[in-house]
Amino acid sequence: MIAAGTAFPLGPGSVIGIIGGGQLGRMSAIAAARLGYKCHVFSPEPDSPASQVCYLSTIADYTDHVALHRFAEAVDVITFEFENVPADGLELLTSLKPVRPGPAILRLSQDRLQEKRFLNDIGIASAPWAEVRDAAELDSAIAELGLPAVLKTTRLGYDGKGQAVLRPGDDPASAFAQLQPKPLVLEGFVDFACEISVIVARGEDGHIAGFEPVENRHKHHILDVTLAPAPLPLATLAEASKMACHIAEKLELIGLLAVEMFVTRTGSLLVNEIAPRPHNSGHWTIDACFASQFEQHIRAVAGLPLATPSRHADAVMKNLVGPEDMAILPAILATPYLIPHLYGKTEARPGRKMGHFTRLFPKGSLPGEFGIEAAIKI
Ligand code: AMP
Repeated sequence: MIAAGTAFPLGPGSVIGIIGGGQLGRMSAIAAARLGYKCHVFSPEPDSPASQVCYLSTIADYTDHVALHRFAEAVDVITFEFENVPADGLELLTSLKPVRPGPAILRLSQDRLQEKRFLNDIGIASAPWAEVRDAAELDSAIAELGLPAVLKTTRLGYDGKGQAVLRPGDDPASAFAQLQPKPLVLEGFVDFACEISVIVARGEDGHIAGFEPVENRHKHHILDVTLAPAPLPLATLAEASKMACHIAEKLELIGLLAVEMFVTRTGSLLVNEIAPRPHNSGHWTIDACFASQFEQHIRAVAGLPLATPSRHADAVMKNLVGPEDMAILPAILATPYLIPHLYGKTEARPGRKMGHFTRLFPKGSLPGEFGIEAAIKI
């Protein structure tokens, strides 16, 4: 059942409900406030990064239907910064208020297998893959795809969690036993030249606006640095943008979509993952674009016209992760031209994203490797 009762575009003072209290919700809420909206965050975490900058917050578990019901009644539209809401909670929310992006898109992005089937069905290439439900299927998947290969959970994986690289000589059975929940998916190992992502917004009128593709470099499976724009041939960038727009169109998305891709050594593009929400690889847009990914997200969800996603500068974004990076915060704050963004998290656990900084360069002047290293070295 689709809920009625909310008129779009949302007028000033309307309340946008955000499921999830992390930094993506925080930066979405800041963008929403600039557009005259109030945000109400739903998160199990007390004092979450998003709740610190929101009008209202509900602290409850995603399985607490009484709290979800009350939350839905108190907002005009519901969106997400965290897509792994249990299916029955999602159904409840959808029955009460418009949910943007729609629940079908969220369900798809919660499940790698469904996501890959969908992408391949609409003509988008991915790494070769096979579903793995038991030991026999693992054997036949390895026979088909060869080694090395990457064994992944199909649900609840992020930042490299829930996956294992299988190399010749490894014991695949022990990786299979450790990864939960089942089923798993085995993917052929992509010897990529680089990883890129494209973030596109699609409004309720079907208009699509995409940010330029960016290159993403990871450290210990966590995004470390984003280069905007990706230093790749124009034809590759155009193809990447076209693919992201095609996916948004086929999903009938209302909201924001991040599409992560591998660029192979021969220059072809394979989609790794999609996420229907703001994405870490889009944080550079806050400082280098006329409207950020967060503003586009809020515009799409509120039924406003989308902003022009153009860039007034080149940018390097560096994530601040864990206690090591927080230790150099005073130096970052004292370095000219670095634009810091902190997420309000008090405890810097290893691997936890605490903030990021952006360094801008005149448009067309993104430096080469040595310059990039110098730009982010503290
Ligand atoms: P994911 O959790 O799918 O986003 O994967 C996290 C990271 O693992 C990616 O950003 C890649 O660096 C690496 N990775 C994932 N899948 C593959 C693959 N099939 N081949 C090679 N590297 C991969």
